[in-house]
Amino acid sequence: MGLEHWAAAAGDLLLGARCHGCGQPWWGICPRCREQLGSRCPFFTTPIPCPAGFPVTVTSSTYDPILRGVISAHKERQAFALTSLLAERLALSVHGLLASKAYAVRTSTIVLVPIPSAPSTIRRRGFDATASMARVAARRLRFRYQLRVRSALTQARRVVDQAGLGATARQENLAGAFRLRRPISAATAVLVDDLVTTGSSLTEAARALRAAGIIVLGAATVAATVRERPGERA
Ligand SMILES: [Zn+2]
Repeated sequence: MGLEHWAAAAGDLLLGARCHGCGQPWWGICPRCREQLGSRCPFFTTPIPCPAGFPVTVTSSTYDPILRGVISAHKERQAFALTSLLAERLALSVHGLLASKAYAVRTSTIVLVPIPSAPSTIRRRGFDATASMARVAARRLRFRYQLRVRSALTQARRVVDQAGLGATARQENLAGAFRLRRPISAATAVLVDDLVTTGSSLTEAARALRAAGIIVLGAATVAATVRERPGERA
């Protein structure tokens, strides 16, 4: 944990903590934000424009201020108490996807593959936020599915920060960005991430897995900046 994280934690202690979702005085997540999040149902989502090869994707919610606060606090301020809440949302999305693909799920082990962050980002944060969410989500779903988590992908080269880039620039930035770090044996994969925006990361990750002969069943995310497809609840 870096000095700035200790400073943030010390600030919380001195000034009083605030809800990560709405900013009201509270430790962690206030009951109102928790209830708001709990009331949301997963849905199929497609970015507009949709990149060629974008996997079928289920998300647990639109990316609203509550989730923006929670996701950011989890990965940038190491609010590990939020891993469980985010994993619960991710598990709902994974279940929504798998329930729609029952024919493929009955016979095979499903491997959740987190979208990789840059190694420098993981070092700075001190943990891999997406992988830790995926592990907790998998534990929650094990009574229902044969699930494993494998950090099978890695960044093949340096990419610039996606924030502030448009859809085309993001696609160019990520083209060929991921490669298989370790093989997955006889597996069907589901990509997992915290957020889907333009779909560039999920598309590129799906391409890398498919190139290695891995079946990509789809993707599941906690939140999406894009809209629900009319009439398609997961
Ligand atoms: Zn709140």
